[in-house]
Amino acid sequence: MKEFEYIDGVKILSNCPICNSHYHANEIHVIEENSNGHLLHVQCKKCKSCVIAVVITNNMGVNSITLITDLDSRDVVKFKNSEPISINDVLDLHKELVQNEKLIFNH
Ligand SMILES: [Zn+2]
Repeated sequence: MKEFEYIDGVKILSNCPICNSHYHANEIHVIEENSNGHLLHVQCKKCKSCVIAVVITNNMGVNSITLITDLDSRDVVKFKNSEPISINDVLDLHKELVQNEKLIFNH
């Protein structure tokens, strides 16, 4: 079995940043893997918190960015190629809420 705690010989994601319990290899899901690096999702068995990690390998070495998230691994797959929310999206939503306030909030 592949040991996902080690990528290119570098130990990553060994402990939960919330409760500090040790991650097991079967909690770490590789969402995407390509020549530049890995996108990983981990859910802690003990406290149920999730992290997303991007591990980038290049000739400078290995860098990782870890982010605490409320996304599950299916959400990560769903949103990883989505466009960011724009200012116009927020304005459109605001307009929609104002126009349909009674409908939406059932006042
Ligand atoms: Zn934890």
